[in-house]
Amino acid sequence: MENSNKFQGIVDFVKKAYPNKDFVALHEPVFIGNERKYVLDAIDSTFVSSVGAYVNSFEERMAEITGAKYAIAIVNGTNALHMALLLAGVERDHEVLSQALTFIATANAISYIGAKLVFIDVDRDTMGMSPEALNRFLKTNAEKKSDGYTYNKVTGKRISACIPMHTFGLPCRIDEIAAICEDWNITLVEDAAESLGSYYKNKHTGTFGKLGVFSFNGNKTVTCGGGGAIITDDEALAKRAKHLTTQAKVPHKWDFVHDEIGYNYRMPNLNAALACAQLEQLALFVENKRELAGQYQVLAESLRFSFAQELKEAKANYWLVALVLDDLEERNAFLEYTNSRGVMTRPIWELMNRLPMFKDSQADDLENSLWLADRVVNIPSGFRT
Ligand SMILES: *Cc1c(COP(=O)(O)O)cnc(C)c1O
Repeated sequence: MENSNKFQGIVDFVKKAYPNKDFVALHEPVFIGNERKYVLDAIDSTFVSSVGAYVNSFEERMAEITGAKYAIAIVNGTNALHMALLLAGVERDHEVLSQALTFIATANAISYIGAKLVFIDVDRDTMGMSPEALNRFLKTNAEKKSDGYTYNKVTGKRISACIPMHTFGLPCRIDEIAAICEDWNITLVEDAAESLGSYYKNKHTGTFGKLGVFSFNGNKTVTCGGGGAIITDDEALAKRAKHLTTQAKVPHKWDFVHDEIGYNYRMPNLNAALACAQLEQLALFVENKRELAGQYQVLAESLRFSFAQELKEAKANYWLVALVLDDLEERNAFLEYTNSRGVMTRPIWELMNRLPMFKDSQADDLENSLWLADRVVNIPSGFRT
């Protein structure tokens, strides 16, 4: 099939799926539930900052939705990652196993601690961390010492955490990753920022490791403007999360006493009000997105595009639908064709190891990451009214 016919097939579908728009964005938020009501209620209550009824409800709802024992509301996803890594025990000069194929927030959060990144390859189908690559890397490069911890034989540094990411809401092979981390005594933190409403083997993403992190940024499936959450089953960690994110203030009626260096990382009640209204519609949003993804898949097959599909044992939220094009040349032609015809499409992120800040990080061969970086594009995936 001629490229222009293939590309036009996508443009035609998108224009029909999102009618009456000059330019169809990749993912626009929709506020069709109780958003206005709850935000106005928060304003009327005067509790607009980090203490308030909506913050509490948000945390309860997030625990219910994910099945985690505890959820902690955080000001955004990046800071939630930073906090989760601190809670996981990551320290300066430790190493954290991560993906080169991810959004910059994962890499930045590791760097805030002064820890070093190690990039592990992804699987081609999930675009998330490959358990095989993880295993291979550890067997070749790591050793468990008598203190029970795992160290990098090349750098001598302790590998204290591993942070896989569920790319575009497609769950990666997280149970296998969890088993490997357990063997090596490496703390598993899931970057589930993109995968609210995504399940692997009927278990919500973010619940496979010690801690899971979500984002509620404006472009995510559920948004509150800016916001994040940490989930965990560990009561002590949940308590510590609340303490550290409220400037490590010792509870007291009037005294300002702080017992360690803390952070101002709590989600404001105003944002939590918006989040509560959005969470009420999570099932509706995911259903709508999965239906769209199903239609895209049929179209992709007829146009001979490769479609990024969930694993059989997973249920994805299909936050952003992805196509895998033939090569870099076709990808660039596709981006040019669609964007100049009012359909927003985007390439996947530049690999972290190609950015100046992370270019010297240790990495495995990153074969699949390099392959995907040249080929993956996202197409409009927002809620259709
Ligand atoms: C969105 C996102 C985050 C967090 O982003 P914030 O904008 O800070 O909420 C973290 N990791 C990934 C992979 C993301 O997509």
